[in-house]
Formats: sequence, C-alpha cells, structure tokens
Amino acid sequence: MISYGKQQISDADIAAVNDVLRSDWLTQGPQVPKFEVAVSEFCNVKHAIAVNSATSALHIACLALEIGNEDIVWTSPVSFVASSNCALYCGARIDFVDISPLTGNMDPTKLEEKLSLAKQMNQLPKAVIVVHLAGQPCDMARINSLSKQYGFRIIEDASHAIGARYKEGTIGNCFYSDITIFSFHPVKIITSAEGGIATTNCPKLARKMAKLRSHGITNIESEMTEESHGPWYYQQQMLGFNYRMTELQAALGLSQLSKLEEFVRIRNQLASIYRSKIAKLPCTHLLQQNDCYSSYHLFIILLDHSVQEKHRVTIEKLREKGIQAHLHYIPIHLQPYYQQMGFKSGDFPCSEEYYKRAITLPLHPQLTEQDIDYIIAVLSDIL
Ligand SMILES: *Cc1c(COP(=O)(O)O)cnc(C)c1O
Repeated sequence: MISYGKQQISDADIAAVNDVLRSDWLTQGPQVPKFEVAVSEFCNVKHAIAVNSATSALHIACLALEIGNEDIVWTSPVSFVASSNCALYCGARIDFVDISPLTGNMDPTKLEEKLSLAKQMNQLPKAVIVVHLAGQPCDMARINSLSKQYGFRIIEDASHAIGARYKEGTIGNCFYSDITIFSFHPVKIITSAEGGIATTNCPKLARKMAKLRSHGITNIESEMTEESHGPWYYQQQMLGFNYRMTELQAALGLSQLSKLEEFVRIRNQLASIYRSKIAKLPCTHLLQQNDCYSSYHLFIILLDHSVQEKHRVTIEKLREKGIQAHLHYIPIHLQPYYQQMGFKSGDFPCSEEYYKRAITLPLHPQLTEQDIDYIIAVLSDIL
C-alpha cells in the first residue's frame, strides 16, 4: 500500500532516542528545553512550550487566552476535530467560518461578514483559530487586521505547516497571531511519535502555558506567592494537567528538526510533479497563493463537477489498487457530536461542497516519481 503520509526515521533519530534511554532522564530532563529552543530559533519566535500532542497545545493555548464558558471561539469547518474541541474543553461556544473553495482555508471575506453581523448582535468571538490546511498559510495579514478592528485573539493551528512560510516569515513566528501550535504526530511533517508545541512572543502566555502543561505548578522562586519552604518546595497556582512531552519524544523531535527543510523541499518537489501530471485530468488542486510557501503536509485534489459523482468510487478504487487515498476533512459541523449541538447540514456550503470533491493523494518524502506515475495512471483510468 502506498500510504497517504508516513514518517521517515533515520539511524541518527534512533541513536538520539537510544542515548536518552541510556541517560538519567526519561522525562523532565534537558532534551525538552533543547527542543523548545531549537523550534523557537527555527521559527524566529521568543518562546516555545513542548507538550504531548497538538491537541494539548490547543487546549492550553485556549486556557492561556482565558477562554471560558462566557466566550465564543470560531474556527474552520475543514479541519481535524481537535481545532474546535479545544474551545469546548474550556466550556466556550464554538462556531465556524466557511472556507474559500479555492484554497480550502478560512475565507477572510466570510470572516469579515460574520464579524460584522456578530458585532451587531454582541456575539463577537474571543478567539479565532485559523488552520493552515495541507500546509498552506491562511491570509494572516488580513485576518490580523480584522482582529485589531474587532478585538479578538488569534491561534494558528499549524499542525500541517511547520516549515511553511508566509510573506518571507516562518510559520510559528507569531507575527500575526498570539499563539501558533504544531503537531508532531507521525503523519505530519516531522515527528516525535506523539507530540506538539505552542509558540508565542508573549512571555506571560508562555509562562502560563508552561504551568498548565504541568499541573499548574511552578518551582520558579520569583513566581511564588510566599518564601520557599526549602529545596523541595513548589506551588500549584492554577488547575493544570500532565501534558508533558517525554525526553524520548523531544530527542526524536530534535533529531527530526534537522531534516525539516529537506523534507519540505522534497514535498514541494513531489507536489509540483503532481501538479503538472494532473493537468490533463478532470480535477484541480488547492490553489497556491503567491505569498505562501506551503509545507505540503497533504496533496489535495478537487474533482471537477463533471466527475463529482465518482468521488467515493475514486477513493475506493484507488485503495483497491494499493493507493491509500484519503479525505481531509469531513466538515466538523457534520460530525454527530456537533449536530447534537445544533449544527446542520447546509450551514457551511463551501465546506460541504469541498467534502464532495476533495481527495488526498499520497505525499511523503519516500514517495517516488514512479509512485506518482502509477497513482496518476490509476486515477486517469477511474476518471
Ligand atoms: C493532527 C492535527 C491536530 C492534532 O494533532 P495531535 O498532535 O494528534 O493532537 C490538530 N489539528 C490539525 C489541523 C491536525 O491536522
């Protein structure tokens, strides 16, 4: 089976994890801070807080922004459920902004229209979680300027987008947002097995997220409300969690980070081969914006309307031929859990239309041009 995404683990990665196993620290040692420094240097951002998953990173990001049960959070329907569940963890209400049918990213014009309506009804969101679908950054300059006009915070769910660039800046620099989060799940661009990280330029948000990741506890003397009782002393100052990343994960992540740019370069190369080879087929790919360099976590095509009724059969037949075609994503508001909350089919038409036409084709650094030729030949037969 040609899988849709797959990790690439080198001998150096294995050695790095082995070294940790033989060291004194399996958790709470030197690797996590080293990984955090390396990610913040790569992204050109002041702080990075490593955690056990991007889902945890999204949760503590929302808590750090003080999202609670009085608040409303907006995100894109075309994402993994974690992008919106994080707001529900905090007791907030969730709503969605429909996508642009061309890029699959949140449509800033629809965001603007929805904000203007929400303002009239006194229902403005406290935060908007934007999702850089497949690795292509959203229109951050415009979303950032709307955030100033309407007074909301921005979290970038960049689970797909480590190594991507927007207007010369690296995603994760938080130039247009309060917090950016990355995922290191094995299908993502680089992996720590499970793992995630939150980046920010705000020292207050960074400290709060660092506490929330570890039970709400601090052992930094300057943060304490009374004098230390002794060398064992720590204080719990808020209700936190155990969302810590292990030393094994951090060592793997750190080793993988050294290959990030190479992985993204290969993904872009393979994507451009795909783009030229699908040109003859009745489908398009997600439009790439000029001011973006995608990390190409996924290669997504959209079937033309003329062949749209073959959508399901195309994915099934690709799989029969050993090609793990996939679909990212089922619009979140169509999930039964969200329908119970009152969302209905028809609420976000562009996302629903996208769901009827989108197919994810395999893309990872071990994929070859011959694999792509085979995939295109099978796809061409089906269509
Ligand atoms: C993978 C993913 C997540 C969750 O990442 P985990 O590290 O598995 O928790 C969140 N959002 C998006 C868009 C993702 O693709």
